[in-house]
Amino acid sequence: ALPICLAGDAAPRVCGTVQVERDAGKSAALAGTLETLAFPPDWVRQVDRDEASALAGLPLARGGVFFSQGMLVQPNRLIDALLETAGVTLLPGKAARVEPAGQGWRVLDEQGAEWVQAQVVILANAAGARDVLAGSGLLDPLPRVAQMHALTGEVTLVPAAALSGGPRCIVGGEGYLLPDVGEGCVVGSTYVHDATEARVSADGQRVTLAKAAGLLSGHFPDFEALVPGSLPGWAGWRAVLPGRLPAVGELQHARGVWLAVGYASRGLSWSALMGDLIAARLAGEPSPLETDLAQLISPR
Ligand SMILES: Cc1cc2nc3c(=O)[nH]c(=O)nc-3n(C[C@H](O)[C@H](O)[C@H](O)COP(=O)(O)OP(=O)(O)OC[C@H]3O[C@@H](n4cnc5c(N)ncnc54)[C@H](O)[C@@H]3O)c2cc1C
Repeated sequence: ALPICLAGDAAPRVCGTVQVERDAGKSAALAGTLETLAFPPDWVRQVDRDEASALAGLPLARGGVFFSQGMLVQPNRLIDALLETAGVTLLPGKAARVEPAGQGWRVLDEQGAEWVQAQVVILANAAGARDVLAGSGLLDPLPRVAQMHALTGEVTLVPAAALSGGPRCIVGGEGYLLPDVGEGCVVGSTYVHDATEARVSADGQRVTLAKAAGLLSGHFPDFEALVPGSLPGWAGWRAVLPGRLPAVGELQHARGVWLAVGYASRGLSWSALMGDLIAARLAGEPSPLETDLAQLISPR
């Protein structure tokens, strides 16, 4: 594989993550879980409320666990940089279906014109993959993938000044609050079922601001004065499969066609690991995933 050098804002930044426990008084159970799983403490450790607050640089509602290697990513910067990597060619358009061609497959657009031909085609278009598979007559043997649905939601950008400069590390729990990346602190997120469009809304911002408030303790008058509906934000879709695990791998009934979809709420973590998995299989290298885990996410 070619080494990829991500510079500046495109590179994930290690800032650590405090995961605030959901309910106060769960510390004993949490300590037991960490002890049972025996993770190294420099990877994850329990923190009480004072330590969690010191790490975040803001008073937090509860203690929890601290992942010192938690990373903050700016997806738009990362994606732009990845698209400029040597070997990547961008051909904008919409794929309608795939069909066998020579030793591999051709991808056709909605007019039925050939878009591209390749030995290996990886459908990585979230819930859109269902339509491409159906249009190609490949969906029937995949009942789990057929149940993939699109779930919308939004995040809100809060001016850092309203939160004394914002947290120093990622604060997660029931929702999340992220360090300022220059445009404000991202707070999220909402889950809207049966929506027909993804959009930023006053109702959504009421939810995201309430989730952020639930992670904090103490008073932030400028934060409390923010008006839902008046803030910048972003809305998008999550592709969700039953069990919230993705569907990744080669189709057994169409060799050469691969899926990499269904990352639900965790696309940034899943996509890097799944990229590794797909590359390892294509290159005949050992899998980065154990067999039983690989089985759980195999397209079916
Ligand atoms: C509000 C919100 C907050 C989130 N927060 C986080 C977070 O903090 N951390 C995290 O890891 N994840 C988060 N996620 C989830 C994350 O956004 C997704 O997991 C991730 O975007 C999935 O990546 P993807 O490339 O598989 O799909 P997408 O990002 O949905 O991209 C799929 C692309 O395929 C294109 N496409 C679809 N059909 C076709 C077709 N037929 N032909 C060509 N192109 C097609 C679409 O236009 C789209 O550009 C969040 C999601 C939402 C909605």
